Amino acid sequence: MKQLLTSALLILFTSYTFPQSPDIWITHFEKSRFLSTPCYTESIEYFQKLAEYSPFAELKTFGISPQGRELKYLIVSGDGAFNPDNGKETKKPIVLIINGIHSGEIEGKDASMLLLREILISKEKEYLLDSLSLIVVPIFNVDGHERKSKYNRINQNGPEEMGWRTTAQNLNLNRDWLKAEAPEMQAMISLFNEWLPDFIIDSHTTDGADYQYTITYSVEKNKLKFIAKCESNFNVGVWKEPYAGLYQFDEVTWTKYRNLMEKDPNINLRFGARESIETAAFVVSIGNERIWPTCSATY
Ligand SMILES: [Zn+2]
Repeated sequence: MKQLLTSALLILFTSYTFPQSPDIWITHFEKSRFLSTPCYTESIEYFQKLAEYSPFAELKTFGISPQGRELKYLIVSGDGAFNPDNGKETKKPIVLIINGIHSGEIEGKDASMLLLREILISKEKEYLLDSLSLIVVPIFNVDGHERKSKYNRINQNGPEEMGWRTTAQNLNLNRDWLKAEAPEMQAMISLFNEWLPDFIIDSHTTDGADYQYTITYSVEKNKLKFIAKCESNFNVGVWKEPYAGLYQFDEVTWTKYRNLMEKDPNINLRFGARESIETAAFVVSIGNERIWPTCSATY
């Protein structure tokens, strides 16, 4: 019975994900049934194709790797603002997605292809461009990406073959932001300085480690303080304590809602992403979102 159910689910899933008619927008990752990732050339071709098809995207080069591969990024703007000057004029936040800084951890690249297809081709997520511009780096450590093996990360659950952690010069780009020895990093810092993105997603894979979420993240404290300031209509008490955490709970409010949820009311948990999100979700679910007045200021 269990086997039958599994087969039925597989057929359903397969027919949903792989339509009968050939579709040039189905990615290598999907065609391989989520087991493998395309090489550098094939990956860049997909991004090129998106740029050729859509008036809202342009593929640019921001550097060259030690082995001579081009470092590429796709700029996606609903306003056709493809350079930093007119990008800033749109006043929309710029989100930079960096994939493959550790190129053995490459799921972000494959996920970016799907996201971009839904924005630019199927247009299911085209609305995102109403409120932001996107810069997507398909692969940052391009030389490492091509140093493929089944054994580069043996405790990681896929893809079948993955790239290497460091660059052709054996530099770990994720340890090079400050010293900037690698030409790839120098190029990235120039790209960053040109565009000054408001938000960065740096995608990694966690080796099958058992995290609560598949994505881990942190928040810049000054930005939290700003949100606290404007959310409170610039009430000094708010950003000078005792408010804290992602959603700026004060100690009393936090304790109240945590007790209602029958969860640990420890006030230090306000700084935990998981706890603060689940508590904020609870507050919203019971219709008490008025505890956060609308923030109209910009930063
Ligand atoms: Zn990593």
